[in-house]
Amino acid sequence: MGADVLRFLKNPFKIFSLSREDLDQLIHAGNHSHYLSRHRANIMIERVRIVAAAFSALTFLWIGLDYIAFDPETWETLAYMRLVSTAIFLGLAWRWNVENSLGLGFVMLVVLMINPPVFYVASHFLLQGQEQSGLASIIATVYTMLPYIIIAGLSIFPLTALEATLFALPILVMTVVTPQLAGSGTIAQSLATVWILALILGIYLLAGMSQLHSMISLVHRASKDPLTNLLTRRTGAEIIDLYFRVSVLHNTPFSVIFFDLDHFKSINDNFGHEAGDEALRGAAQKLHEYLRRSDIIVRWGGEEMVAVLPNTDAKGIKLILDRVLKDWLGERPDDKPLTASIGVAERISDDIDDWPDLVEKADERMYAAKKTGRARAIIMDDEVMLSAIAADTGSSR
Ligand code: GH3
Ligand code: MG
Ligand code: MG
Repeated sequence: MGADVLRFLKNPFKIFSLSREDLDQLIHAGNHSHYLSRHRANIMIERVRIVAAAFSALTFLWIGLDYIAFDPETWETLAYMRLVSTAIFLGLAWRWNVENSLGLGFVMLVVLMINPPVFYVASHFLLQGQEQSGLASIIATVYTMLPYIIIAGLSIFPLTALEATLFALPILVMTVVTPQLAGSGTIAQSLATVWILALILGIYLLAGMSQLHSMISLVHRASKDPLTNLLTRRTGAEIIDLYFRVSVLHNTPFSVIFFDLDHFKSINDNFGHEAGDEALRGAAQKLHEYLRRSDIIVRWGGEEMVAVLPNTDAKGIKLILDRVLKDWLGERPDDKPLTASIGVAERISDDIDDWPDLVEKADERMYAAKKTGRARAIIMDDEVMLSAIAADTGSSR
C-alpha cells in the first residue's frame, strides 16, 4: 500500500497508464505526427459540420419561439441575428471542396463557437431592464446559460489541454465581464459564475484530453507496425499520396527510397525467426538515425522498407545514402553488416505524375541493384552508389 502511494507520487500519470510522451501529446500538439494531425483535423471538421447542421435548424426554429415570447421590436432584432446565425451555421455544415487541415478545423470551431456568445452578450443588453414573464423569462434564462452549453459542447472535440484552455478562456472572461458591463451583475454573482465555470472547465479539459487519448491510441494501433514501430503500408500510402500532392502544388522535390534487405531469409534459416525479427527491428532503428525527424519510414512488406522524403533532391539523397552505405542497417547475427539493395526515385527528375509510379520506379531501381550485386543504391539518372564493403556481401548468404 505504502509502496503504491510512493509510486503514484513519483509518477501520478502511471496510474492512467500514460507515459511522459503520451502526456506531452495530450497537453500540446507540438509532438503530434503529421498523420495524427490530419486524422484529428478530419474528426474535428466532421464534428463541427454535424453540430453546425443541428444548430442551424435550432436557431432558425427559435425565431418562432422568440415571436411568442417577446415584444415585436425585440423580436425583430433577435430575428435578424438569428437569420445571420442560421446562414453562418449552414455555411459551416456545407461540404466545401477544400483540403481538410487542422488550421481549417480551428477556424471552423471558432466560427461555430462565436455564435452563442454573441447571443449571450446581445441578450444581456437587449433584454436588460425588461420585465420578463412566462416563456420570455425561460428563454432569457437559457440565454444566460449559453456559456455553460458552449463549454460542455466543446468537450466533444479532441483538443489538447492547451487548445481547450485557449478556447475556454475568452468564454470565461466574457461570462464574468458581460453582466458587470450591462450593470446587471453583482461581484458575488460573478464569483459564483467563475466557480461553476471552473468546475465545468475541469471536466471539459479531462473530457477533451481523454477523447484525444483514445484517438491517439487508435491511430497508433492502426498505423504502426507492432514489430518495427514503422508505419504500416496502408498509412504510408496515404501519407505518400498527401506529400506527393503537396509537392506538385508547391513544385518542390519529393523522393522515396526503397530498401530491400539482402539475403534476409538466410538469417531466419540459420539463426531462427526471432533473430530475423531482431535484425528487422535494428534496421528500422538505424534508418531512423540516418533520416530527419520529419521524414517517415514505412514497412512496405516483410523486409522491405520505404523512406518518404519531402523536399529532398539528389543532393539530399546522396547525403543520406552516404551514411547508409557506410554503416548499413546494423549487423547480422554473424556480425557481418546487414546490407540492402536500394532504389531511389524523385518526382521532378523522374518526371512522374502520380505516387504509385514514384514507388514503382524506386522499386524497379531496387530490383536492378539486387540483380547487379546487392549492397548498393541506384538513384536518379540510374547512377550507382557503391559501398566500400560491397565486395563482402556475397559471402553473407
Ligand atoms: P534477397 O537478397 O534476394 O532480397 O534475399 P531475401 O532472402 O531477402 O529475399 P526473400 O524475399 O526471398 O526473403 C525475404 C524473407 O524475409 C522471407 C521472410 O521469411 C522474411 N521475413 C519477412 N517478414 C519477416 C518478419 O517479420 N520476421 C522475420 N523474421 N522474417 C521475415
Ligand atoms: Mg523482399
Ligand atoms: Mg530481401
